Amino acid sequence: MMYMPDGTDFTFVCPECAESMVVNGPMRDALIENGCVVCASSVSSQSFSRA
Ligand SMILES: [Zn+2]
Repeated sequence: MMYMPDGTDFTFVCPECAESMVVNGPMRDALIENGCVVCASSVSSQSFSRA
């Protein structure tokens, strides 16, 4: 399994707009796939850290 167990959160900080939010694993994947929800900038796994 590649996914972290439930309850594993990440802190996302957008490199473009500096929006920060705590996300879980699937949300993290969605952000990497779709970009920042605020400014639509593409984001990479480097924009996430363990909460
Ligand atoms: Zn952004």
